[in-house]
Amino acid sequence: MHLREIEIKGFKSFADKVVLQFPKGISAVVGPNGSGKSNVVDALRWVLGEQSSKNLRTDSSVNLIFSGNEFKPAGQSAKVKLVFDEINRPDIIDVNTLEIEKIIYKDGKTEYFLNKKDARQKDLVELLASLQLGTKGLSIISQGSIENILKVSPQERKVMFEEILGLRQLEMKKDASERKLQNTNTNLDKVSSLVNEILPHFRSLKRYVSRFDKQKEYQDELLALSQKYFGYKHKV
Ligand code: ATP
Ligand code: MG
Repeated sequence: MHLREIEIKGFKSFADKVVLQFPKGISAVVGPNGSGKSNVVDALRWVLGEQSSKNLRTDSSVNLIFSGNEFKPAGQSAKVKLVFDEINRPDIIDVNTLEIEKIIYKDGKTEYFLNKKDARQKDLVELLASLQLGTKGLSIISQGSIENILKVSPQERKVMFEEILGLRQLEMKKDASERKLQNTNTNLDKVSSLVNEILPHFRSLKRYVSRFDKQKEYQDELLALSQKYFGYKHKV
């Protein structure tokens, strides 16, 4: 898989549309301090599903939108598109080029597009995890984080290895299944307490039904006996 292009518009310091092409091999983004090099990495992380504002170096996701400067007013939305080539994973996705676009609006609403089609965040995160493209592993090593990688906790290291091995997606599915199981258990508890509530009523209704059946039996018997009796009387 190869990240071929990043298109940024209205994200952080990128007020106007910028398209960065990454030909095969090693690419370097060079610029003076504060020129927006790390913002490119933030844009990449953001599309790949980074949730933590701290990791995106902002205080809230709407502040990722260009906030204006002396030349340009603030933007209304931030849009970043990533183009991946050579996916070569027919077992996961049947196309070889993947375009992932994320947009955030001033009101906080976010939209995702997967190859230009509307997509849900959940599907995208799952797809990226199965392509080993999450945000927690070693795919992105940002400024200052090489040191972090060396001194992360065993738990964080486990997450990294899981991501490299493609276990993240399974882990997420397992968590979702566990949540479903938990919900089912809660529902089961509700149902059994309902059953306990209804059972006494059911028992007394059952008694009524059996009395009703007996009444029918007695009525039939009475009818037969009275027919016999009046038949006999008539003869006498
Ligand atoms: P360094 O070489 O020091 O690491 P850098 O090239 O990585 O610098 P960045 O951290 O990417 O620079 O960019 C920082 C710049 O982005 C700052 O000037 C900051 O004002 C600007 N910036 C961040 N968020 C926004 C925003 N929402 N709107 C406008 N500008 C922003
Ligand atoms: Mg930087």
